[in-house]
Amino acid sequence: MNTMKAVVFKGKDQIAVEEVPKPKARAGEAVLRITTTTICGTDVHIVRGEYPVRPGLIIGHEPVGVIDELGEGLQDLYHVGQRVIAGAITPCGQCFYCLNGNHSQCRGALGGWRFGNTINGAWAEYLLVPDARANLAPIPEGLHDEDVVLCPDIFSTGLSGAESGNIRVGDSVAVFAQGPIGLCATLGAKLRGASLIIGVDGNDQRLATARQFGANVLLNPNNTDVVAEIKRLTEGRGADVTIEALGRQETFENALRATRPGGTLSSLGVYSGKLIAPYEAIYAGLADQKIVTTLCPGGKERMRRLMAMVATHRVDLNPLLTHRFALDDIHEALDLFSHQRDGVLKVVLYPDAERAKRAPVHASYEMAEIERTRP
Ligand SMILES: [Zn+2]
Ligand SMILES: [Zn+2]
Repeated sequence: MNTMKAVVFKGKDQIAVEEVPKPKARAGEAVLRITTTTICGTDVHIVRGEYPVRPGLIIGHEPVGVIDELGEGLQDLYHVGQRVIAGAITPCGQCFYCLNGNHSQCRGALGGWRFGNTINGAWAEYLLVPDARANLAPIPEGLHDEDVVLCPDIFSTGLSGAESGNIRVGDSVAVFAQGPIGLCATLGAKLRGASLIIGVDGNDQRLATARQFGANVLLNPNNTDVVAEIKRLTEGRGADVTIEALGRQETFENALRATRPGGTLSSLGVYSGKLIAPYEAIYAGLADQKIVTTLCPGGKERMRRLMAMVATHRVDLNPLLTHRFALDDIHEALDLFSHQRDGVLKVVLYPDAERAKRAPVHASYEMAEIERTRP
């Protein structure tokens, strides 16, 4: 068969499931048969025309699959039939940026992000992986697709917010927004040894999940002055590290106001339009604060580390997988996800429609009692 099923971007607010040519691996490339993938908030921006990609492109950047074909030069490392993931970001490992350690910026700004951005993505039966030697990460024995489907992007990105913030043991950390990435940033703060982890979100159900992921204080901006409360909890200083995981002026500004002098604002959000730092929020620019930005780290070594955390049960990402759909039902899945209906956090997509019918992985978490824990 030389064709495959794929979700193609046709233009603003238009996607279609189509039969398209199946990719073919050249030297150094591999073709995966996609077994499981998911929808990212960025995909919603793409479909809405808020992040430009070319019409005709296959969307999706979170692949779990099986090696279907190997191009020349890979046979010593991989074999057909092997279960692997690739990161959402696929650095080449050889360019100026990669060799300076800025793998996500491979070949230029955001250049490491290729799937579903500059080349065809993972919402398809097959996916061509470039620079496969640097990017195919074998799935450890015993792990299911669902266990690792959030490693290519969400876990990597969320955790990187904590890493870029350089969280130290005993730090106070506030994470603004508790969507899937914010929840993984909260988890990252816990893994890095923060003592006080403040989860901020306007959705009480998401706050309940934040507690599961390591937050010990939950703040809802709809009923709390979040900045004042963070200062109160930190002896008037502000948090050592704040993480912005939404990409809006309001959350950026609140995160800035809640960052102590000498502290770090670690920004993960995708912003649109002008971003403003009011002079009093940034102490007129004189308070030794750091603002750092991060794009999802990729590459096979990053993926190996993340999957090792899952394999050793140090991390369980399954509570984030709330719904499953066949890739054929992408319209329905995208509609649910983009409107945040039915307590959705992440939607699992299966190119094989039969797999979507099996027992749902619906979130089993009980609505935990929302109360502020005063340390
Ligand atoms: Zn993404
Ligand atoms: Zn590179």
